[in-house]
Amino acid sequence: MRTIEDLIGEDAQASSLAGKRVFVRVDFNVPQDKKTGAITDDSRIREAIPTLERAVKAGAKVIIASHLGRPKGKREEASSMVPVGERLAALTGWEVLVPEDSVGDAPKALIHNLRSGQVVLLENLRWHAGEEKNDEELAKQLAELCDVYVNDAFGAAHRAHASVHALPRMIRDRAAGLLMKKELEALGRLVQAPAKPYVAVLGGSKVSDKIDVVEALLQKVDVLCIGGAMANTFLAAQGKKMHKSRIEEDKLPLARTLIEKAQMRGVKLILPVDVVVAESLDATEGTDVSVDAVPAGTMALDIGPRTVELIGNELRKAATVFWNGPMGLFETPAFSKGTFDVARIMSTVSGFTVVGGGDSAAAVKAAGDDIAKGFDHISTGGGASLELIEGKKLPGVDALQ
Ligand code: ADP
Ligand code: MG
Repeated sequence: MRTIEDLIGEDAQASSLAGKRVFVRVDFNVPQDKKTGAITDDSRIREAIPTLERAVKAGAKVIIASHLGRPKGKREEASSMVPVGERLAALTGWEVLVPEDSVGDAPKALIHNLRSGQVVLLENLRWHAGEEKNDEELAKQLAELCDVYVNDAFGAAHRAHASVHALPRMIRDRAAGLLMKKELEALGRLVQAPAKPYVAVLGGSKVSDKIDVVEALLQKVDVLCIGGAMANTFLAAQGKKMHKSRIEEDKLPLARTLIEKAQMRGVKLILPVDVVVAESLDATEGTDVSVDAVPAGTMALDIGPRTVELIGNELRKAATVFWNGPMGLFETPAFSKGTFDVARIMSTVSGFTVVGGGDSAAAVKAAGDDIAKGFDHISTGGGASLELIEGKKLPGVDALQ
């Protein structure tokens, strides 16, 4: 697979991209405040800037495209890319031109007249129903806008959508962006010959979301630690009384099978020995109890300090660490300690440490800048990072090859 560096070559001044119309698919699907529309986290914009800058410096006419939110094939102001364009302009100093649509005469005219210091940001790709349907017609219209295709949208690479899959296959000069490359290299290290001992930490809301990930990790890891709501189902499968805790009753047999598989493969499975409980999700205080003594009328909302210690002992010996899924209801301060403590310990591990998953990445950032900096890689792709761990091929990556 080629990267944008290969397309530019040694000499950016004499680059083959000079004067070319370069379409860069990015993941600018940023979180926004529901009421005001204000961007609440611009990391996805920041992460794409190195690739955009390379293309701009190589003298390309840069056309940036992304989806935003879930407009379901309809034009709606609430998911317009205009505020994203404003943030990109503020971060880079470029003049960011946003045509009223992503295909047709409006973007064509802007691209034709593009001057140095300007870039084009197309309107929301998902305003067209064809985007999510991988529609060839929409892809053809997008192909008319450009000479070269670059995909830097790792967060969208697991979707066979028109701008990610059908479009690149229509363009001979296509390549991965720098963020895409960084993500594939970091996550690739977890799949191909990870250094041992390999410790995985899984949590989050549901076992059912993560079955394939657990199965895949059981083939690779030496230690699997499970926390968060996901652990409740495993504890209940072992006969613990979890009372009001969130449990997936229909996944109890599966949890038993996974516990047996771990045993058969010699994977050390660490489940919580203590949990922080409260009477409801709105509680502002919790109590640490043994998993054998969860009081009736309460639910487990975080892992306790003895469990953090058990997980910490494994992490400190690890050469490779992968983490997906918070250890508790970390959005509430009373139940964030387990997640933040695990993040803090992980940030000091000398081995190779990777976090994947939307909420997990948010949790590491919420734990603090110093902690986030201690990780080798925080993936920008939730679903995409999990599919790579599961050993699946990503349509967006496939289409670049
Ligand atoms: P990711 O996005 O990183 O893959 P998930 O979406 O699977 O993670 O899970 C994240 C959510 O799980 C968070 O909103 C968190 O509050 C919730 N959660 C974790 N543990 C618990 C728990 N014990 N009870 C209720 N919710 C929990
Ligand atoms: Mg999530």
